Amino acid sequence: MKRNFKIISLLLIFTMVFGILTACGKKDDNAGESQGTIAYEDGVYEGVGGGNGGEIKVNVTVKDGKIESIDVVEHKETEILSDAAFEKIPQAVIDNQSVNIDAVTGATYTSKGIILAVKDALKKADGTDEMFGKGEKISLATKEENLEQTYDVVVIGGGGAGLSAAIEAQSSGAKVVLLEKMSSLGGNTLVSGGGLNVPGTKQQKELGIEDSVELFVEDTMKGGDNINKKELVTVMAENALPTTEWLVDEIGVEFMPDRLQQFGGHSVPRALISKNNQGTELIKKLKAYGDKLGVEFKMETKAEELIIDDNNRVVGVKATNAAGQEITFNANKGVIIATGGFGANKEMRVKYDPDKDEKYKTTDVAGTTGDGIVMAEKLGADLMHMEYIQTYPTCNPKTGIISYVANSRFDGAILLNQEGSRFVEEMDRRDVISKAILDQTNNEAYLVWGQEVEEVGNMTKVHENEYKVFENMDLIYKADTLEELAEHFNIDKDNFLNSIEKYNQYVEAGKDEEFNRRGILRTIAKGPFYIQKVVPAIHHTMGGIVINEHANVLDKDGKVIEGLFAAGEVTGGIHGTNRLGGNAVTDVIVFGRIAGQKVVE
Ligand code: ADP
Repeated sequence: MKRNFKIISLLLIFTMVFGILTACGKKDDNAGESQGTIAYEDGVYEGVGGGNGGEIKVNVTVKDGKIESIDVVEHKETEILSDAAFEKIPQAVIDNQSVNIDAVTGATYTSKGIILAVKDALKKADGTDEMFGKGEKISLATKEENLEQTYDVVVIGGGGAGLSAAIEAQSSGAKVVLLEKMSSLGGNTLVSGGGLNVPGTKQQKELGIEDSVELFVEDTMKGGDNINKKELVTVMAENALPTTEWLVDEIGVEFMPDRLQQFGGHSVPRALISKNNQGTELIKKLKAYGDKLGVEFKMETKAEELIIDDNNRVVGVKATNAAGQEITFNANKGVIIATGGFGANKEMRVKYDPDKDEKYKTTDVAGTTGDGIVMAEKLGADLMHMEYIQTYPTCNPKTGIISYVANSRFDGAILLNQEGSRFVEEMDRRDVISKAILDQTNNEAYLVWGQEVEEVGNMTKVHENEYKVFENMDLIYKADTLEELAEHFNIDKDNFLNSIEKYNQYVEAGKDEEFNRRGILRTIAKGPFYIQKVVPAIHHTMGGIVINEHANVLDKDGKVIEGLFAAGEVTGGIHGTNRLGGNAVTDVIVFGRIAGQKVVE
């Protein structure tokens, strides 16, 4: 392709006169300077880059040798989580005429995917990797703000608990600021399936399912090996229904109309599932409602320390913003900690359970590093159940993200190891399967299924994006014969075939002689077949700050720390040793609301 010689000559002269500005990594209006002597061939170019959820496609328009616009034409990135990357990265590329841009906090893969796509397009306009790497990496720093700010309530953390708390407090007339250290709201609530357990819904009644607050409490206590704080479990169970009504009627959250799920450990189906089976629905609607009320959201603002007055009352928060300023947020009425768990903090995990080291990746978002627990502990808050850390058994071995394709397990897929043998009952508890997988060669396992299973839930189609991600990473393989599956992952073929044949005989006989598998048994005999590599990953931290029924934080003597509240995964005691599926969302919304109401009382 022809270069634009005129522009290059002009740029050379300019560069000679002013020196090489690129070393400063500054924003510059001239087309060529930020990357030395770059001028692209005019035109519109399509580019593709791999993001978190698959391919990101962009159209880059070059005019007069400059990158004029970048349109994202297609992507499958997680809503909300990736919003900041799509807002900031293309603009920064245009402003700086450089692709050497820092990633957006918390949206690294999306940021990189956008940049890869832009580079791909620019290569068609005569760009080269050498040009792209020039100059200092450009940071996405934000503007400076007042060093001291005063509100009635400061909420730390913008997941389900923090958003619910902020809304309740603001609704009662308080002036609320919510500090979120990442560039997007949502936390683990966002990446959850958005299911919450509620006894007594109309969906249950329509299906003739008998349920009660007492039964929900009983199941939750049993699931946590009965060490849960029963008074908190009771508050969660009693408030589940009114909270759901609030979500639907007030906030506008939509649930899947025909879906009522029974997670493990529950006696009856009692989980409502948010629209699209995603936590995005909850976060999107809560954020919109918060905006409407006038809650102030401070993104990329990390709470570092709680401030107390002479009477040990919590009166504010010290935080650092993206511009690196230390801001004091005064809280006239109180502070609510809603910073989530510590699943993404390896050091902290190991401190409380030495087994939960680097061999585990995590399903949790990067922001869940236990900050709130550390801040509260410094003030003398009591912690409980810190050693109980839950793993989820079937996650992506490279990223740790939960695999929904692997839900084929619930439809009948079996788990095999590198030697081609079964080693666990596939329907056992999360912790049992996780531990069993880690005892196998390479600490990983393979899920194997054929059309008999695939036809039940069509997991590879329903979760097509995830399937493609696994395929690109060579973590899933489809073939017409079982032999090919074994060969692809170097599994002992004879043993592999033998294990499946034996399993098929158990299915025919109606009883799994080896592991006594529960649920409906299905053969693996009809191709095409699938094999998927999976590992366990850290999923939920049950322990945390001790609170009472009003979400007040308690000290080691059981006394309320004035002005301090906590809600959500940052708290301990509600789930005991083991949280049941669908209980996280119920917990965070119920206690988030309580914290928001009590702080203004
Ligand atoms: P929960 O389910 O309890 O609401 P989430 O994991 O959904 O918890 O949300 C917790 C949020 O708190 C995350 O978005 C996380 O980034 C944020 N967070 C964690 N630590 C801090 C901190 N020090 N300052 C501000 N936000 C924080």
